[in-house]
Amino acid sequence: MILPVAAALAATGTAAYGAFYRNSPVFGSVLHQLPTAAHDVSLTFDDGPNPYATPLILDALERANVKVTFFFLGRHVERWPDIARRAAAEGHQIGNHGYFHRKLHFRGISYVRDDIGRGKRAIEAACGVTPTFFRAPHGFRSPWVTPIARSMGQKTVGWSLGVWDTDLPGAEAIAKRTVDGARPGYILLLHDGDGYDPVGDRTQTAAAIPTIVSELHQRGYSFATLPR
Ligand SMILES: [Zn+2]
Repeated sequence: MILPVAAALAATGTAAYGAFYRNSPVFGSVLHQLPTAAHDVSLTFDDGPNPYATPLILDALERANVKVTFFFLGRHVERWPDIARRAAAEGHQIGNHGYFHRKLHFRGISYVRDDIGRGKRAIEAACGVTPTFFRAPHGFRSPWVTPIARSMGQKTVGWSLGVWDTDLPGAEAIAKRTVDGARPGYILLLHDGDGYDPVGDRTQTAAAIPTIVSELHQRGYSFATLPR
C-alpha cells in the first residue's frame, strides 16, 4: 500500500504548492516577472489606499515621474476614494487586491467571486477605471481563484521579490532590501497599506521611495508598469 500513500502525498504536495506559492502555475498562470530583457523593474504596492502613506508615496513618485501599480483593497478604497482616484488620475495602474483581504485558498467559488467582484466594483466607483490585474492576498490561491479573476478581465499577478517592508525595519533597510534585491525584469512587492488595519503604519515604506527610485536609476534601471 505504499504507492497510493505516496500518490496521495504527492497530490497533497502539489495542491499545497499551488495554494501557497504565489507564482505557482498549478492553479493558473501568474505574471511574476516582466517579459523583457531590458533593465526594467516594476514597483507594486499592496493593501492601500492608506491615508498616511499613500499620498506621500504618490508625491515621491510624481517628483520622480515614475509610474507604478497599486493593488488596492476594496474596503480601503471605499474609505478613502479620493486617494484611490488620485492614484489613477496620476497615471498609475490600479489593480484589484480583493475586498476583505481574507486568504482565498480555502474559500468556496461564490466567496471568491464575491470578494474579487466587490474589489473590482469599489475601484470602478472610486477611480472610474476597471482593473485589469488581480493579486490574491498573500498570493494564496485555489484552483478557481485565477479563472474567476480572468473571467472578470483581470490577469493574476505574483511578484519576483517581496521586500518585507511590513516588518517595519526602517526606511533605510526597506530601501536597501529593494535596491540590493532588484534584478532586471523583477516585479517588486511593497506595501502602501495594511491588509488588516486600515490605518496601519506604512510611512517607513513611503520614506524609502525617494532612495529606492534614485538608487535604482543610478544602477541603470528604468521603471515599467505591468504589461497588459
Ligand atoms: Zn495584501
